[in-house]
Amino acid sequence: MAVAYNQRTHRCGELRKAHVGQTVTLAGWVNTSRDHGGMTFVDLRDHTGITQLRFTPDKSTAHAAARTLHNEDVIAVTGQVVSRGEWTNPKIATGEIEVEVTEIDVLSRCDPLPFQINDELDVGEDLLLKYRFLHLRRPEMQGIFRLRNTVAKAIREYFHEHGFVEIETPFLTKSTPEGARDYLVPSRVRPGTFYALPQSPQLFKQLFMIAGFDRYAQIVRCFRDEDLRLDRQPEFTQLDMEMAFVQREDVMNVVEGCVKRIFKDAMGLDIPLPLPRMTEHEAMERFGIDRPDTRFGLELRDVTELVRGLDFNVFRDAIDAGGVVKCIVAGGEKLTRKVTDGLTEELRGMGGAGLPLTKVAQGAAGIEFQTGIAKFFQPIAAKLCQAVGAKPGDTVFFMPGKYADVCKYLHHIRTRVAGILGIIPENQWNLLWIIDFPLLTWDEEEKRWASTHHPFTAPLDEDLHMLETDPGKVRDKAYDLVLNGTEMAGGSIRIHRKDVQSQVFRILGISDEEAKEKFEFLLDALRFGAPPHGGIAFGLDRWVMKLANANSLRDVIAFPKTQRAVCPLTNAPSTVSKAQLDELFLTIKPLPK
Ligand code: ASP
Repeated sequence: MAVAYNQRTHRCGELRKAHVGQTVTLAGWVNTSRDHGGMTFVDLRDHTGITQLRFTPDKSTAHAAARTLHNEDVIAVTGQVVSRGEWTNPKIATGEIEVEVTEIDVLSRCDPLPFQINDELDVGEDLLLKYRFLHLRRPEMQGIFRLRNTVAKAIREYFHEHGFVEIETPFLTKSTPEGARDYLVPSRVRPGTFYALPQSPQLFKQLFMIAGFDRYAQIVRCFRDEDLRLDRQPEFTQLDMEMAFVQREDVMNVVEGCVKRIFKDAMGLDIPLPLPRMTEHEAMERFGIDRPDTRFGLELRDVTELVRGLDFNVFRDAIDAGGVVKCIVAGGEKLTRKVTDGLTEELRGMGGAGLPLTKVAQGAAGIEFQTGIAKFFQPIAAKLCQAVGAKPGDTVFFMPGKYADVCKYLHHIRTRVAGILGIIPENQWNLLWIIDFPLLTWDEEEKRWASTHHPFTAPLDEDLHMLETDPGKVRDKAYDLVLNGTEMAGGSIRIHRKDVQSQVFRILGISDEEAKEKFEFLLDALRFGAPPHGGIAFGLDRWVMKLANANSLRDVIAFPKTQRAVCPLTNAPSTVSKAQLDELFLTIKPLPK
């Protein structure tokens, strides 16, 4: 008789001593099976855990069937829960019992596996992605996606409880300028025209505010055709929200509440509020980056004034060219010559010129600098050490150059050195807001201003008067939420006046015609009673990645793409038939040789 697999009495991780004597029905996958002197043991697995099944020769049909099992066959069994007596297995939650099987139904057989589900993984990522359904079957992946579910649920509940309405926005739409390349979808009905998949619902959520919805939140997919990295996928999910009649503080307060809820529900942790705030300027000064990891020190020190008079060309040239000299002080014996040579090479790989450094020692006549460029500094050794807090045994890493380059390279050194010294605390969650970004950033290559966030970000009221005269000085009403050095959310108060929006477009080099072509609907809407509004988006995938301590977004997206934006499971993207192309009036150019 077949086992009633649709009437499972328990899941595989549930049975305990208290169930001894009960007749139960379980179903799942064969995790392992082994023959032991006449008896056969099978570990049966589902997403809740493992139960050991025992098959004895006196139940000959079941026993015979059990002996044919292979890993990952799907079975259902009925049997009696018995105590394992002294043979308990403390490693699993069900380790005090086993099920003595009276009936088994083999529901489905498994072919030889491309990789094991129950063992260490030692295969390339392509294979894992091709058989993603098998990879997802592994307990650690089940854990990640259940955590993802907890986070998504916490976010949804939180926003619903706070009066936000969830409304969907279109996928087949027009380009939103978030700074990436668009994914395009050709229109069949109007050949030669294209939709863009949204880089974010930015403009639609602003239209919701103008439409009077007041509070909107949506967990939504966004698409950006960028070069992929461990923390970038072509399609990703974000919580997107917008509020009307608010100032920065209001949005930040709501977000903080949500972050608290996420940590509580997903990690059982209480995050103290309010979260610290830091201006972008301070972040750059102290950490060289606008998303600082504040779990450790090694802060940047400006020594431009101190070294100004030194007879050292590398520094002098940088300062004469309007640049700065900054340094980082790090202690410890781990910073050997080999290690620092390696760091220098890394900087060269990033386009840097080198990494002037010196070691501090206690000489007979006082503080001494040793190695490399030491002789140039000797005149100011004591003064410099005092200013930057360096003591004997420390290494001082210098960086001369343009402010932005100095920040970039020293941020890299800071992070690497912290890793090498092992001073980054684990299980610590340093959240902070970064505010007062420059509204515009000068694009050296294109020789024009670009938005630091996006073109709909409002300038600070007190800086508005500089928009025409000194645009680089204007700060904005944006806020980024940073967790341990990763940007987890970003948003802003928006421009809600048409004249200011047009002015910003002009400064960005977007002509009136182009603005009309691309954003006429927004400019139009701003004419018809737009309330002050602002919002934010946070990357759901990124949150899960951080909380799960995963090192790639690919671990937390169910069916991700590879670095080359390919899905090995479905083989997307793939060619299409000539008929499909004809219908769209498209021809494919031959690839360049
Ligand atoms: N649209 C922005 C983004 O996707 C977020 C925002 O400004 O609300 O990054």
